Amino acid sequence: MLRWFCGHIRRDRIRNEDIRDRIEVAPMEEKLVQHRLRWFGHVQRRSPEASRLLEKKVLFITGTDEHGEKIATSAEASGRNPKEHCDTVSTSYKMLWADLDIEYDKFIRTTDHKHEAVVNDFYSRVLDSGDIYRADYEGLYCVSCEEYKDEKELLENNCCPVHLKPCVPRKEDNYFFALSKYQHKLEELLTRNPDFVRPSHRLNEVQGWIKSGLRDFSISRASVEWGIPVPNDTKQTIYVWFDALLGYISALLDDGEKAGLQQAIDHGWPASLHLIGKDILRFHAVYWPAMLMSAGLSLPDSVFGHGFLTKVILLILKGNLLNRTLGLLKKNCNSTLAFDSIAAADAVSFRENVENLVDKAMQHYANLLLSSACETVLEIGNLGNLYIDEKAPWSCFKQGGDSAEKAAKDLVIILETMRIIAIALSPITPSLSLRIYTQLGFAEDQFKGLRWEDTKWGGLKAGQVMAEPKPVFARIENETVTGAEAEAGSKAAKGGKKRTRSKGLVEA
Ligand SMILES: [Zn+2]
Repeated sequence: MLRWFCGHIRRDRIRNEDIRDRIEVAPMEEKLVQHRLRWFGHVQRRSPEASRLLEKKVLFITGTDEHGEKIATSAEASGRNPKEHCDTVSTSYKMLWADLDIEYDKFIRTTDHKHEAVVNDFYSRVLDSGDIYRADYEGLYCVSCEEYKDEKELLENNCCPVHLKPCVPRKEDNYFFALSKYQHKLEELLTRNPDFVRPSHRLNEVQGWIKSGLRDFSISRASVEWGIPVPNDTKQTIYVWFDALLGYISALLDDGEKAGLQQAIDHGWPASLHLIGKDILRFHAVYWPAMLMSAGLSLPDSVFGHGFLTKVILLILKGNLLNRTLGLLKKNCNSTLAFDSIAAADAVSFRENVENLVDKAMQHYANLLLSSACETVLEIGNLGNLYIDEKAPWSCFKQGGDSAEKAAKDLVIILETMRIIAIALSPITPSLSLRIYTQLGFAEDQFKGLRWEDTKWGGLKAGQVMAEPKPVFARIENETVTGAEAEAGSKAAKGGKKRTRSKGLVEA
């Protein structure tokens, strides 16, 4: 089964409640990952959404990683028990996603019963494989990172490079996962299937880590009560990797069904694509595949590490190609299409150009080059602008006769183009696309039922009545681009082509 599967759960997101503030700082990447990712002011939907348009099975998951010492500490500081604290924070997230118009299929809380059941089953499988052992661990520990640090990565006074706070010496006995046993298997995996990690420069990064030697890692904590108890030792709780990462699997379970690893797997594991932020690549491209191998589970076909939204892309969508075309149609054709779009575009090469760009956009989506996909769709808008300026239907209508008939056809051509743009951009800008679509006289339900194949020329029929023209958007700025696209950008830069990211311009 082909399943696009994306999402990750960031434990650092649940620490505080000032999510709305922090969302400015870290977050676009977070939003990117799990949801239908959108651009233009709010959030970006990723190409899994385009995949859904292709009628492939897609599951968008998000959630909150709710266990661990620092969460217990935050709860205490706010005078609540950890469960109450997590309830509040996870509710805030749900509200935030609703505010941002981000949709998801599953919201996983790692304190959910079904998640704990999956974690238990998974742990037991790995234990049976002989890959879990107990050992003392002593080192410098960053409470905020919740991990032991190598001394060589620390700053002056043993400060954590992330939190700039001193790490504390700590010693405890923990359970360890024998990652080192999987060194060879992981090397083999990446040699056999270099697409396992994409894009390719991230593959190099991962291969570098593996080559430098894999160390077993701790998977339990003795001093942390707020967590899932280790199945064979209730004095310890399971530490993040054997907890949060399993959210990808427990998300497959439906509410109310018997919770267990096998039941979840039966829903269609593995994912064909696992989409993650680049900062968590080590855990998803090294730890996670080794853990899956140990548990006897299949690996995703590919792990795609996207970058952060550090670049600003300014896409100015000047709201008037659609608006002025509808205005002309209202004035001259009573807001009604006089021709089918197929008849209107008969022998017009414009249609072919649009179709080629739509194909190109689809290829970019398939390759997760979302910025390129978006730019390609915007090119269609530019074509539309050029076309209407060249044909000048406003003066043709004045001439009457054949000229007026030609002008009426040209309006249909532009509106059909806008219809296609609306669909092709819908993985990125669902609300905008809906507004365009309803302006074209369609109902919301028709928009929801759209598939990628509806980008084929010919959707608008004679007799269709357009809605009252009104601007569908204002100027939108501060758009963003992911690392996946940054890669495309750097390619363009190498080719000596100045990237137009600061001026993706389309009129609608
Ligand atoms: Zn730290």
